[in-house]
Amino acid sequence: MTYLPAQDRYQKLDYVRCGRTGLKLPPISLGLWHNFGGVDVPAVGREMILHAFDEGITHFDLANNYGPPPGSAEEFFGGLMARELKPWRDEMIISTKAGYHMWDGPYGEWGSRKYLLSSLDQSLGRMGLDYVDIFYSHRPDPDTPLEETMGALATAVQQGKALYVGVSNYSVEQTREAAAILRELKTPCLIHQPRYNMFDRWVEPELLPLLEEEGIGCIPFCPLAQGLLTGKYLKDIPEDSRAAKSHGFLKEDRVGEYLPKIKQLNEVAQARGQSLAQMAIQWVLRLPAITTALIGASKVSQIDDCLGALKASPLSEDELARIETILSA
Ligand code: NDP
Repeated sequence: MTYLPAQDRYQKLDYVRCGRTGLKLPPISLGLWHNFGGVDVPAVGREMILHAFDEGITHFDLANNYGPPPGSAEEFFGGLMARELKPWRDEMIISTKAGYHMWDGPYGEWGSRKYLLSSLDQSLGRMGLDYVDIFYSHRPDPDTPLEETMGALATAVQQGKALYVGVSNYSVEQTREAAAILRELKTPCLIHQPRYNMFDRWVEPELLPLLEEEGIGCIPFCPLAQGLLTGKYLKDIPEDSRAAKSHGFLKEDRVGEYLPKIKQLNEVAQARGQSLAQMAIQWVLRLPAITTALIGASKVSQIDDCLGALKASPLSEDELARIETILSA
């Protein structure tokens, strides 16, 4: 059967301007780090992407190394684009990144011009795309001049292989410098992708104010702390959860470490009549510097649950204070 998206999909969400740029993003975006690789069930990945798009989620985030094996998430996504989503390419924001290890030898990781531009060509090949909407430097490279890394991003735009550029995992100082270089190169930085959730708040004191000042958007990854900030680990570690998977990045000991706080946060969410995942997403989106929450999912029902966050009543001062007390204990 040919896929046809829901007619009313753009009535479902309020799109958010990314910093002071012309681009708007959905308040929730879907990342393909886990659950869309060669080890995963393609039918489930297909259903999640098509359903997300039906619900108005126009932004899909990838990287060269997503899988496992590395590259397989882009291949999977490319197959879906070719078979079903191509007619809607102009309604989608597709991002990819380069920075982590991708191939052997001295040119397969970090931030050289050689690596970034070769990797982007490979990503476009795997996804069968002429261009990506956003191309990121996935991590700062301590040994490559920032001018070279940012220059490679600007070249990608000049070549028509990316429309916008972004940085991920850059510190405050690195972001400040990167933004200045990109401005000089007439390729302004669109967006920063840092980790941000209730258990990791490094961005709050300096990075977010800087992004607001610079007019750069912010797309926090792991808003649910890889699933810790959901109800799934309250009783045990479910067999199909990320913490139970050998290739996952969430290890069992982290569940035990955070469980007391997870339980208390879950009580606050229950008192609000919502899931902990919904509250965690609302909490991330509460700050004006945040453009969109970049979630992951392993099933369609999780995407729907997360979208419920956008319909819930705002967190009150009392609820925010209660959350603050739990987090700082
Ligand atoms: P999250 O913190 O949103 O965790 C997603 C996981 O939480 C899901 O796989 C699922 O776990 C669980 N989950 C999601 N929704 C629910 C729900 N409603 N109820 C119960 N469980 C739920 O994000 P990710 O860690 O997946 O990261 C999101 C994206 O961020 C990535 O796909 C990637 O695009 C990006 N990213 C970027 C990085 C960077 O360096 N730039 C680094 C890491 C991520 P389960 O699988 O157990 O069901």
